[in-house]
Amino acid sequence: MNDTDDSSRDIPHATVDATGEHAFGEAPPSPGAPPMVVLAERKRFVERAQRLHQLAERLPAMADYLRFMAGVVEAQHRVAMQSRPSMIDSAEVAIQHGVPPLAVDGLWRDLSWNEDLDALIGELDARIGEPQRSWFEGLKSRPLAARRELVTAIFEGRALDAESMAMAPLVGAALQVAWTRQARMLPRPPGRPGETMRRFCPCCGSPAVASVIQIGMARSKVRYLHCGLCATEWYAERARCVECGDSKTLGYCGLEDDSGERVLPVNAETCDRCHSYLKVVQREWEAGADPVADDLASLALDMMIADRDLARRAFNPLLVLGEPAPG
Ligand SMILES: [Zn+2]
Ligand SMILES: [Zn+2]
Repeated sequence: MNDTDDSSRDIPHATVDATGEHAFGEAPPSPGAPPMVVLAERKRFVERAQRLHQLAERLPAMADYLRFMAGVVEAQHRVAMQSRPSMIDSAEVAIQHGVPPLAVDGLWRDLSWNEDLDALIGELDARIGEPQRSWFEGLKSRPLAARRELVTAIFEGRALDAESMAMAPLVGAALQVAWTRQARMLPRPPGRPGETMRRFCPCCGSPAVASVIQIGMARSKVRYLHCGLCATEWYAERARCVECGDSKTLGYCGLEDDSGERVLPVNAETCDRCHSYLKVVQREWEAGADPVADDLASLALDMMIADRDLARRAFNPLLVLGEPAPG
């Protein structure tokens, strides 16, 4: 399927510092304009779990996987409610200086992900079946240093051995919990990223997992990029490559069933200039669509695109793609 996207709303652009020193700029306020940055919503994990159950019903071939991930996300919701020390003491200063207040580089050692991982393991222990037991027990007893090694590999997108690949989604789930909890505590959203940083989350600095065409009063038909790590959303112009900014060589493709019907509210926005793609999740087509859940459910789209030599730029902590590295 190929169709074109349209820029249906005129949004004031964030000011870009000509010196390039301040990568994250404040958008000029404009009455009635959609918010430039929206912090993680409270019900994010609950709604994502519901979405995964819905997708499991629709996609029988992926049902076991999607139901397992729904269980992980339900556990995330419970663990995210547990209180942890706040790491946002200097957030206001960071926001004022246009620096992501929860930058992964600076915080990854100190954030509560290891405690959250143990809590997730406790939540899931009873529902882990025999096929998953071996890696699950391996993760349980994995010392902190080895867990940290896995965390850096996930953030850097390094190839993993088969056992680490099996563990990675649960470790990624713990990272999501730790960052999302802190993002919810921020005193206010940071400004929208400046031009050169447009694809990076203004809260944590991670690349987006996908873009979302939003619904609802203030945000109807507006495109946002969604952070797979801390669930922040920030404004992005429609029909413009998130990676290189080009508008002329974009294409859109999605999954269809045998009768030519759309399978999921997801298109890949492909760019022939920088040879990359990012998925666009259309909440206009299905209000319950979720950028992380629908990314997992649309793996067939990544496979369809794989032979076109386009790089996947998305960061989804619940997903590890590729062949296991020898190890
Ligand atoms: Zn983020
Ligand atoms: Zn591009």
